[in-house]
Amino acid sequence: MERERVEIGVFGGSGFYELIQGAQEVTVDTPFGDPSAPMTVGEIGGRRVAFLPRHGLKHQFPPHKINYRANLWAMKSAGVSRVIGPCAAGSLQPEVKPGTFVICDQLVDRTRHRSDTFYDGPKTTHVAFADPYCPELRSAAIAACESLDIPFKPGGTVVVIEGPRFSTRAESKWFSGHGWEVINMTQYPEAILARELELCYANISLITDYDVGLAGDPSIKPVTQEEVLRVFKENNERLRELLNAMIPKIPEEPACSCQSALEGAQF
Ligand SMILES: [Zn+2]
Repeated sequence: MERERVEIGVFGGSGFYELIQGAQEVTVDTPFGDPSAPMTVGEIGGRRVAFLPRHGLKHQFPPHKINYRANLWAMKSAGVSRVIGPCAAGSLQPEVKPGTFVICDQLVDRTRHRSDTFYDGPKTTHVAFADPYCPELRSAAIAACESLDIPFKPGGTVVVIEGPRFSTRAESKWFSGHGWEVINMTQYPEAILARELELCYANISLITDYDVGLAGDPSIKPVTQEEVLRVFKENNERLRELLNAMIPKIPEEPACSCQSALEGAQF
């Protein structure tokens, strides 16, 4: 039986499966090894959606051990053309409060040891990444936040650190001093690998804490893993609502340039 084409991919775990109608498990082999888990495919609002938990079914892959290339390749092989990558994140600015959803429009890569390209030669490929996130997916996310009355920020810069450790006070002060809003460990290379495969990609950062207590403000306590997990759990319910509202708002015919990212990029 020919598999029905999947249109939208979401990096998210078991918390979302109750959203899906007619869920089926799909296993994909990739030239880069195994994805974090099999995909769960089904329908949301009449659209075919694949869910893939980036940290694995048992949350066994820390951010620096995720096989990002296999995960994106699996999405592409399933026919996905649009990818939504929600993540837990820290805040670098006092006004970006825990509980806020930030629809990031920029990122700063501070990772060091990750495989972050599909193009290791012989064909040299330089993909434009000036605007790392898909404008159409971002608009759909923003419209969904507005319709649900979710506290959100319609733009922001995410700093992606290598992890698994959190930042020092000096690093955190440095990042927030640039005016950057969000800090996370998985947005890179997820975003660039999506672009290299000409997939639309957007992030929704769920703010769980203030990074290292925002250096200099003694009233704000440094992040702990316990606090991150508590707020993330609370946010998960709202994220489910957001995806349910967002997915039907995604235009069926893309008018963005993400899906022609390789034009003029190869020599
Ligand atoms: Zn796009």
